[in-house]
Amino acid sequence: MNYAKIADAYEKIEATTKRLEMTDLLVELLKNTPKDLINKVVYLTQGKLYPDFEGIEIGVAERLAIKALARASGRGEKEIEADLQKSGDIGGTAQNLLSKKRQSMLFAQKALTVQRVYEVLDKMAKTSGSGAVDTKMSLLAGLLSDATPQEAKYIMRTVTGNLRVGIADMTVLDALAIAYGGGKENRELIERAYNISSDLGRVANVVAEKGLEGIKRFQVSVFEPIRPMLGERLASPEEILDKLGGKCVAEYKYDGERIQLHKKGDKVVLFSRRLEKISSQYPDAVDLVKENVVAEEAILEGECVAMDLETGEMRPFQELMHRRRKYGIAEAISDYPVSLFMFDALYVDGKDYTQEPFQKRRKALESALKENIRLTPAKQVLVRNAKQLEEFFEEAIEDGCEGLMCKSVGKDSVYQAGARGWQWIKYKRDYKSEMTDTVDLVVVGAFYGRGKRAGNYGALLLAAYNKKQDTFETVTKCGTGFTDKDLAEIPKMMQKHKVPKKHSRVLSTLEADVWFEPTVVLEVLGAEITLSPIHMCAMDSIRKGSGLAIRFPRFTGKYRTDKAAEDATTSTEIVEMYQSQLKQISQS
Ligand code: ATP
Repeated sequence: MNYAKIADAYEKIEATTKRLEMTDLLVELLKNTPKDLINKVVYLTQGKLYPDFEGIEIGVAERLAIKALARASGRGEKEIEADLQKSGDIGGTAQNLLSKKRQSMLFAQKALTVQRVYEVLDKMAKTSGSGAVDTKMSLLAGLLSDATPQEAKYIMRTVTGNLRVGIADMTVLDALAIAYGGGKENRELIERAYNISSDLGRVANVVAEKGLEGIKRFQVSVFEPIRPMLGERLASPEEILDKLGGKCVAEYKYDGERIQLHKKGDKVVLFSRRLEKISSQYPDAVDLVKENVVAEEAILEGECVAMDLETGEMRPFQELMHRRRKYGIAEAISDYPVSLFMFDALYVDGKDYTQEPFQKRRKALESALKENIRLTPAKQVLVRNAKQLEEFFEEAIEDGCEGLMCKSVGKDSVYQAGARGWQWIKYKRDYKSEMTDTVDLVVVGAFYGRGKRAGNYGALLLAAYNKKQDTFETVTKCGTGFTDKDLAEIPKMMQKHKVPKKHSRVLSTLEADVWFEPTVVLEVLGAEITLSPIHMCAMDSIRKGSGLAIRFPRFTGKYRTDKAAEDATTSTEIVEMYQSQLKQISQS
């Protein structure tokens, strides 16, 4: 298969903002792809070579890309830089300069195949050590020399991590369902396979080769992370019990970092909530798992919490930030030790538990562990009334937890991978006083500052995630709560996410001075939620012509690097918060 087919599809997909058209174009591309290549094409369309959890990036810096382009095009680096200044896109510059070169060439080139492009990019990604920069440069220059200007544009964008054609996971799932899964109505089954493997390429392979039957037999697999199940929230024990059918298991809600551990024999891998490998941050936790998880094979979930080992007290979440470093981890381990509080079992010794009800999973969890003071099952009780729940809540707060996770014990209390549902309900202290609850919002734009903030950003435009539409809807403009350090850091941090115009997945009526690709998530505390004609969050859902806005937002100082943009607070959650706030006001 020629790479030109992919480049062509990108060009068309980029030209549309309509998700349905995008999906149709992707369906056509996938149908025209030989089955044994389908995983690679799926990764490539998202600018990747492997699923995210492998953590393998092509990682070509702009400098190196310029050098490779200079070699392939015969142009000077200065000229390339000047063109890049104008276009702001290394892909566009490559296309531009190579088309000038092609006009002066007489011979035909050898067509680039997808296999070759993939293999060369793979080699680039895996080259390291001394001489790696030169090797990468030659490999890239070689590809560019054989590429058409259009192909060069997308190769350049891919290697520098700027593909951004706008194909999100959900669009790929739709396209797979239509192309190979018998129609869009079967997307849910395919989505489940994705949710329990986090590997769109493997899912694409299975559905293309074995059809829907293969997808139905799809199983979890150790070392492939499962997308986390998430909870909803409610403000009172009564509402929680009502929702959960009069009884539930209330569990301590520990304030740490979510960990999904995968174990097979001696090998242990820890994944974060975003499904990144974080074993190197927590070698002590890896040891705890090796010593105390007695199951031979297991996928378990828990919260990793900073501890004072002398007093046995839990320490605040912020202390875990000291573990996010490459060097000096030995000191960080002794200064900031951790314990693991386990709350779920998804796979134990050959059995997939994801479809089993919660209490059966809890039994499997208990039997997979050897009791140890630093690795224990989460503390829990079965509660049947509001008083019991409230008492256990007080106990949890007393012990240094954030509150409770109230879990359904119904027959349908299966592990809903990748979904936020009512099987788990959070009950936190802040929910009691109205609107002191935090939200996690995505930075989609910025406004230049004035006065003291001249030259910096004065405010950020923040958005909630609309899961159904797969878009980001603005909900507030936040300029409070930033320290001087934040103000200096944020422009640097956002630089690589800058886009020339409003991103296609962002909905906004406001015109920001600078636009960003939705990537960075910040925690924000709002005072209240109001109807707003300006903000697009949940537009028309409460009243026609109105969206919802968060008023008096303040950055809490927490950069939610553990969350992807799609993990941010959703528009639906904001609607729920708005409604529960109204209820509280009317009750008081
Ligand atoms: P979410 O993860 O739901 O998007 P969040 O990261 O903002 O939200 P919270 O709303 O505070 O976090 O609560 C959910 C998180 O609580 C889980 O992702 C998990 O890390 C943590 N947690 C702590 N204890 C438990 C428990 N016993 N059961 C489930 N989750 C727990």
